[in-house]
Amino acid sequence: MLSEGVKIVKEHAVVVHESVTNQLKKVDPVLLVIGTIAGTLVYLKTVHLYTRSDQPLHKRLMAWGFQKFRRLPAVKRKIEKELEKPKLEILESIHKDDVDRQFIAAIPEESMSQEDLLQLAEKYDNYGKFDVANGKVSGTVYTDRTENHMDLMEKIYRRYAYSNPLHPDVFPGVRKMEAEVIKMVISLYHGPSESSGSMTTGGTESIIMACFAYRNRAHSLGISDPVIVCPVTAHAAFDKAAHLCGMRIRHVSVDKDNRVNLRELERSIDGNTCMLVGSAPNFPSGTVDPIPEISKLGLKYNIPVHVDACLGGFLIPFMKEAGFPLPVFDFGNPGVMSISCDTHKYGCTPKGSSIVMYRNHELHHYQYFSIPEWTGGIYATPTICGSRAGANAAVAWATLLSFGRQEYVMRCRRIVESAKRLADGISKIPGLQLMGIPDVSVVAFHSTSFNIYAVGDRMTKKGYSLNALQNPDAIHVCLTYNHAKNDIIDGLVADLRSVCQEVESLPDKGNKSSTAALYGLAAGIPDKTLVDEMTAAYMDACYAAPPPHH
Ligand SMILES: *Cc1c(COP(=O)(O)O)cnc(C)c1O
Repeated sequence: MLSEGVKIVKEHAVVVHESVTNQLKKVDPVLLVIGTIAGTLVYLKTVHLYTRSDQPLHKRLMAWGFQKFRRLPAVKRKIEKELEKPKLEILESIHKDDVDRQFIAAIPEESMSQEDLLQLAEKYDNYGKFDVANGKVSGTVYTDRTENHMDLMEKIYRRYAYSNPLHPDVFPGVRKMEAEVIKMVISLYHGPSESSGSMTTGGTESIIMACFAYRNRAHSLGISDPVIVCPVTAHAAFDKAAHLCGMRIRHVSVDKDNRVNLRELERSIDGNTCMLVGSAPNFPSGTVDPIPEISKLGLKYNIPVHVDACLGGFLIPFMKEAGFPLPVFDFGNPGVMSISCDTHKYGCTPKGSSIVMYRNHELHHYQYFSIPEWTGGIYATPTICGSRAGANAAVAWATLLSFGRQEYVMRCRRIVESAKRLADGISKIPGLQLMGIPDVSVVAFHSTSFNIYAVGDRMTKKGYSLNALQNPDAIHVCLTYNHAKNDIIDGLVADLRSVCQEVESLPDKGNKSSTAALYGLAAGIPDKTLVDEMTAAYMDACYAAPPPHH
């Protein structure tokens, strides 16, 4: 029976084949070749479209349909008209603190006197109204700015302002400072003797460099389409790195504590996976991913693990000594191959420095770039930058040395204690629930009784700057040394409590607040390019001359 069936199929196949061949004989062979190439291109394009994003197909189809719909002239006009007002509002809100509404758009012909210029600089500095020193701002400025420390920064900056580590022959001192900062940070993370790293301009560049290195490593292993696998809570810098490096990124969900779902992480691994990511802690809820378990997966599948300690960089190494032990998060895990750590967050250095470090030189070399045949001479750089601000290395070096270990341990203890006090206070406010586990310095919360964004908007009116989160809707406070006093935490809890009461008593439960409306709108439209248009308007507004007063 079976052989009979096979025979029939074969006969049919022969007939079909012959008929196709006869058809083809009538076609010009040149057309045939072109047709084959075109067919291949269409096939590749389809594969590319399909593999370009890990979004479900129906979502992409919806977005595509919406995009086409938007291009219809009548719809386009209507949308443009609808966007006019919010765009103006964005422009106004960016410039709301600019009381002068004057804008210097060309270099003055004659020199401006230093006196005038310093006066103007002071005026600009006074535009900001947030009381950072009294804990009104989440994250952003991680240290108090004592006179003593600022004097030191001024002296160091003055000496190294024009230095450039790109030229170690001209600036041997600043080269040494950079190298010492890198080594000091590697030693905090128990890097083995072969480990090495680079100083970058910030956490984003550190992450981009690690992703770039693993992409290059993957290419060298014959993986042509490398994929980053990271939790949904990993920093947006990984998406940016994927975008810049032409890589794909696959996001893995988190459990109820906001730690990466390990089983899903393991299921997401395939032959294209070039790196696994864990955060210590993550930005949204300040929860530390299970790094030892991610490390084991990395070893099992021979995939390098990157730990993003950008935020926690100068807290987690001191947690044990401060009385808050954490599972091992550093090179003590044999699968952890690289770590990003920001000096310019809890390291308390002025903005513009971060460290990316690797377990060995071989991995570090994948991030190096060199062009031996450049007409300007043999050219090589370790990071994205060509010229680098030597002053950034110098002020980082001076901050680490002038603080010393014990200062960091003390700050860590006080910040983490304050975070626990805040979490405790928030958990007692009716209608609020903590989100994730506040393992270190971030406390995130949401509400099942009212709109949490309305709480954020009202806190803004009270002079606070907190962070809005989404998926799910929540807000967080990232505590800095400026929050590390009991009365500041208690004041924050009291303000939150009264604001929550207000929102709870609103008939709409805060659903009409401006941030709620913005996020609601963004979530409701399948076509994310519309949201892109608004974020572009926001960035354009930052560069724009101030609109006139009215
Ligand atoms: C801040 C942060 C980054 C990015 O650092 P930047 O210095 O802002 O570029 C990366 N990861 C985490 C967890 C962060 O909190």
